[in-house]
Amino acid sequence: MNHVTKPNIDKTSQKIWLKSPLAVFTASNSDASGGLVVHDDKIIECISAGQTPKSEYDSVIECGNFVLTPGLINTHHHFYQTLTRCLPQAINKPLFPWLKTLYKVWQHLDDEMLYSATQLASLELMLSGTSMVCDHHYVFPKGLDNAIDIQAEALKQLGCRAMLTRGSMSLGESDGGLPPDSVVQTQDTIIQDSIRVIKQHHESFEGAYLNIALAPCSPFSVTTELMQETASVAQKHNVLLHTHLAETEDENVFCERMYGMRPLAYLDKCNWLGPQTWLAHGIHFSADEITLLGKHKVGIAHCPSSNMLLASGICPTLELEKAGCKIGMAVDGSASNDCSNLSQEVRQSLLQQRLKYGAELITAEKVLGWATAGSASVLHRNDIGELAPGKQADIAFFDLNELRFSGAGDPIAALVTCGVYKASKLMVGGNLVIEDEQHANALSEQILHQHTQLAKQLHAKSA
Ligand SMILES: [Zn+2]
Repeated sequence: MNHVTKPNIDKTSQKIWLKSPLAVFTASNSDASGGLVVHDDKIIECISAGQTPKSEYDSVIECGNFVLTPGLINTHHHFYQTLTRCLPQAINKPLFPWLKTLYKVWQHLDDEMLYSATQLASLELMLSGTSMVCDHHYVFPKGLDNAIDIQAEALKQLGCRAMLTRGSMSLGESDGGLPPDSVVQTQDTIIQDSIRVIKQHHESFEGAYLNIALAPCSPFSVTTELMQETASVAQKHNVLLHTHLAETEDENVFCERMYGMRPLAYLDKCNWLGPQTWLAHGIHFSADEITLLGKHKVGIAHCPSSNMLLASGICPTLELEKAGCKIGMAVDGSASNDCSNLSQEVRQSLLQQRLKYGAELITAEKVLGWATAGSASVLHRNDIGELAPGKQADIAFFDLNELRFSGAGDPIAALVTCGVYKASKLMVGGNLVIEDEQHANALSEQILHQHTQLAKQLHAKSA
């Protein structure tokens, strides 16, 4: 397997002043125009306009060309799908036919492919300014029983934080489900492995690099008993719950036919409604359902590009937020978005949500807030997602000294509307995991060739 070189991590206990940035988006409305002081893994000071650090500092990073934001946080992805972007047989299809076509390919996934896809998708996210990645892996063909362990190993090389969700499918085609029987597992296998993976990998302390959650692919790809058992295991081990919900109207029809009720009522029946749950997409809800979701403080992974590409619909973010839901941002899988770039997703959200709510309510700060503090609250992380003293030093540096930003007045608005797509530097827990363009290129080269070859192998196996 291809191992990338560990980033050049400076573990000295220096206090670093990130000096005089062009602008800072703190996600908490505080003033940090003079920059930030980082010590070890944390931010220890936000400096107001025209001020210098109150604390002593050992070194300086000049930030005159940079907009600083909290490291972006992705709340939903399927890393393995980077191997099947734009497959001719799947493009231009809505969700269900798209899924049925791709399951035939995904059933040939192996451990080497998943390792490579995890590294590639995570690096792609990091290069767009993402400090915490998230994956929902639910395809377990024979031989890939230790998928989450493979992903945890692959991530160690990169230095980002991650939420890995142990996905599941127990209803194959022969039981009325969508996927072929070859990619589903038995209920016992799923529950036992879920408990093992939590015990082995889940970190619950401040500054954690790896969190685990439990995540049936959708309420219709597992049995009712497994949905309920998953909720009870998650509660017992104090981990979060995740699944896809209300992505399309087809799904509502499918659920009513299968269970005689709409998906949210079914989720309620399975004891899933509560702040421990976050849902990918969350588009097709009635007003009463939004009230119910808000009452239970459910989190939503808002995936604008995927929703537009598959023509699924527009997430009612503001109604959900007003009701009490937490809104985070996500790129979704790379076969429905085809792009793991969270900076671009922020722009897509601004454009898409303005169509629904108008220009005044959907601002650059609003959508950046969803991708940072919003995502952090969806993933129950109060140590990241904001630039404030005491928070982890997860910081994206965006260089505005480029043609596309030239002439811009408001740097934060420019970041979103002029279309930023890459971070020049990325700090995670005080470590510069992306140092500069040369470093970013070197990391990419180490992963790219193998991923391309493995994708070709996967396509050939299913041809
Ligand atoms: Zn998804």
